[in-house]
Amino acid sequence: MMLVKDINCRHAVRLIGDYLEGKLSRRDRRRLEHHLAGCDACGAYLEQMRATIALAGQVGPEDLSDDALDALLDVFDNFQRDRGDPGEDMP
Ligand SMILES: [Zn+2]
Repeated sequence: MMLVKDINCRHAVRLIGDYLEGKLSRRDRRRLEHHLAGCDACGAYLEQMRATIALAGQVGPEDLSDDALDALLDVFDNFQRDRGDPGEDMP
C-alpha cells in the first residue's frame, strides 16, 4: 500500500515555504520529508531557505531591509547557478 504519494521537485519547492512557516498539514509535511529524503536538490534548497531566514530573522519581503533582500537574492542566484536551472520553475 502506498501511503505517501511521491511529489515532484516543483511541488516540493512550493511546499518548503509553508513547511518553514509550520503551515503544512501533517500529510503534506510527510510527503515533503519523503521527497527531501531522496532529493539532494530540494534538500539543498531547504537548507538555503533555512539559512536565508536565519539571516533575515523573519520571512516577508516588506520586512526585509535592502541588505537582507540583496543577500536573499544572491542565495537564489547561486543556488540556481549550482543546479544549472534557468529558473523557469520559480514562482
Ligand atoms: Zn526534489
